[in-house]
Amino acid sequence: MEKVSPGDGAGRIPAEITKIIPLGEERLPQGDHRANGVVLRRRDVSGRSQELLLFLHGFGATWVSAPGSGTSNRFGGGTEPMTWGVFRLYQSPRRLYLKGVDIRESFLGVRRSKSSLCAAVKWCLELSSRLPTGHESDPLLSLLWGSMKNLSCGVSHLLIDARFAWRWANLWGLAPSLDRCTRCGREIRIGGARLAARSSDGFICGECLRGARDGSEGRALLSPISSEAVLLLRTAATLPRDGFAAWAKAGGAESIRDAGIRAELEDCSLWLYSFL
Ligand SMILES: [Zn+2]
Repeated sequence: MEKVSPGDGAGRIPAEITKIIPLGEERLPQGDHRANGVVLRRRDVSGRSQELLLFLHGFGATWVSAPGSGTSNRFGGGTEPMTWGVFRLYQSPRRLYLKGVDIRESFLGVRRSKSSLCAAVKWCLELSSRLPTGHESDPLLSLLWGSMKNLSCGVSHLLIDARFAWRWANLWGLAPSLDRCTRCGREIRIGGARLAARSSDGFICGECLRGARDGSEGRALLSPISSEAVLLLRTAATLPRDGFAAWAKAGGAESIRDAGIRAELEDCSLWLYSFL
């Protein structure tokens, strides 16, 4: 498995966002708490009350109750999905309540772009459905932060999405190798066309691909992928965070001008999410 550094693209979460009170257990001690993170989901319940799924530094995903106050939303934009901030919480004997939000980043620029908004919403939904509650996942939170910062800086959502999917799968130990064949372990060579394919287990090299076509395994089960797409995916997924944005705005952006490569990259992202 490729080794990658934690965190992502636009840098680590700033100090004012990472400064937390470590929580560390599924149910907090009764009383007041503060934690940094992001709103992943919001559910309206009775009256003006809401249930929020927060992704918090030091604690992971957790549902909190945001009580309403008559006719107005007392938390303003602090309960909007994709809003980052410091969440002030109160743990009662039975529930965790939201007392207030100090908003740090609303990502208004991301919300104004349809493609960026779609990518960010997709990450929030994927995390909402897959994250276990009450388990710390700080490297993944950092990856989400970096991905949203890169979106806000104008980096292509296609490149960030492929990077996000692979790095998430890699954090969980589920990512396919982007360098080696899953069948024989040989290196996937770059150069020429249609040298490799995707399978449900990982990349398949040209030699194994030919064997699969001749054998009982139907070609329909394998999705050919071009060398250009393999290289693009490999670069997007594994570049250190400091170099990713610069590369994505130059060489990466140039590569995805080709509609065929763009389509391949989108297929690859879908494929990567299937490993989670
Ligand atoms: Zn092989």
